[in-house]
Amino acid sequence: MINPFENALRQLWGAAKIGNVDGSLVERLSRADKEITVTIPVVMDDGSTRLFEGYRVQHCASRGPYKGGIRFHPDADINEVRALALWMTIKTAVADIPMGGGKGGVVVDPSTLSSGEIERLSRGFVRALWRDLGPDVDVPAPDVNTTPEIMAYMVDEYEKLTGDRSGACFTGKPVETGGSAGRGAATGLGGFYVFAALREKANLPESATVAVQGMGNVGGNAARIFHENGHKVVAMSDSRGGIYADDGLDPVAVEKYKEESRSLRGFPGAREISNNELLELSVDVLVPAALENQLTADNADRVKAKLVLELANGPTTPEADDILHTKGVKVIPDVLANAGGVVVSTFEWQQNRAGEKWSEEEVFDKLRAVLVPQAEAVWHDALAKNMTMRSAAFLLALGRLANEPKIGA
Ligand code: NAD
Repeated sequence: MINPFENALRQLWGAAKIGNVDGSLVERLSRADKEITVTIPVVMDDGSTRLFEGYRVQHCASRGPYKGGIRFHPDADINEVRALALWMTIKTAVADIPMGGGKGGVVVDPSTLSSGEIERLSRGFVRALWRDLGPDVDVPAPDVNTTPEIMAYMVDEYEKLTGDRSGACFTGKPVETGGSAGRGAATGLGGFYVFAALREKANLPESATVAVQGMGNVGGNAARIFHENGHKVVAMSDSRGGIYADDGLDPVAVEKYKEESRSLRGFPGAREISNNELLELSVDVLVPAALENQLTADNADRVKAKLVLELANGPTTPEADDILHTKGVKVIPDVLANAGGVVVSTFEWQQNRAGEKWSEEEVFDKLRAVLVPQAEAVWHDALAKNMTMRSAAFLLALGRLANEPKIGA
């Protein structure tokens, strides 16, 4: 089995070697500040009590509070959460926002729980961890299978326990309960801003063909935004498989169809494809927006896309990275491509603390202003030193982290 934390460390050490980065900084970032494993007892609908395992990894707070989502997934494990936390430290530094890196997870298949059980599990996560959370300490957000509603349960539980009324301890909340306008679309939109800033440099056409793996918060929004901006989304998928249409799909119609029929199967005018086939389609842009380890040594050679926009965290293993780099496939790395989520989460935190509400237009303008210069810097550095954009992004982040007097102190 591929260990995402080993991959994250290889990315860190690989970039550090290229950039001749001080070894003590890299040693420090190879370990989290704190790792917490908790047991969460949940009373189930039938009256029994089930015990769930949860994690919070607080990787680095030298640039601001720990920041990162909470994932509910049957395959969540400590190494996955460690990797995701390290990537958050790099990502917040690439975006140059005043946050550190952290991540959480609960080992659970939420599709097997009722809505009441999900609420009790969410509240239980906070009861187990609240002493280690807080607007100045650690600020979680949604990730795979966690939603704005789940954030609302969590913030409510946190406020009951602490009396905090700022709402700033969790981001990604519903807009009615202190969430930011634009947070829902932020990760997909941020990815699109990064893509749009680099499209011409990458020699891609004004109307590119796009395949999107995963159609949750991130993939669903990304597909819609690419389509709305004149690109042709030819393939979309969920965990059970995907669909392909030469003439392009309307992502909103696909979402609606899936909602009604609980499956993509039979979508008019499209043929069924597997997730593996989707990754190997001959398209301009491949957007992995589901889970990690999708592009590996086994399939990277067959990737025909010209550019990979990593909206999922860790979709490409280091072996696949090398293969794609040799083949000339550009990879816009997760720590840049999907930073839009944490940037708008930071805007949400800032609004909560200042008692402000920004319009969606203002949020999107600020998001673009944060991401585009970083995308250009990463592109420039990668080209100048003939390295991958991932190494360039890590080096940009390591440069910023090295300037933090608090690191390692
Ligand atoms: P989500 O739970 O909303 O959606 C996940 C999607 O992936 C679903 O459509 C699911 O069916 C699909 N999926 C699951 N397993 C799959 C598989 N094996 N093959 C194909 N599709 C599969 O989650 P999300 O919030 O959209 O997160 C997706 C990715 O983006 C994750 O890697 C997450 O860490 C990353 N990410 C999310 C955010 C955010 O703001 N939510 C921010 C940055 C990065």
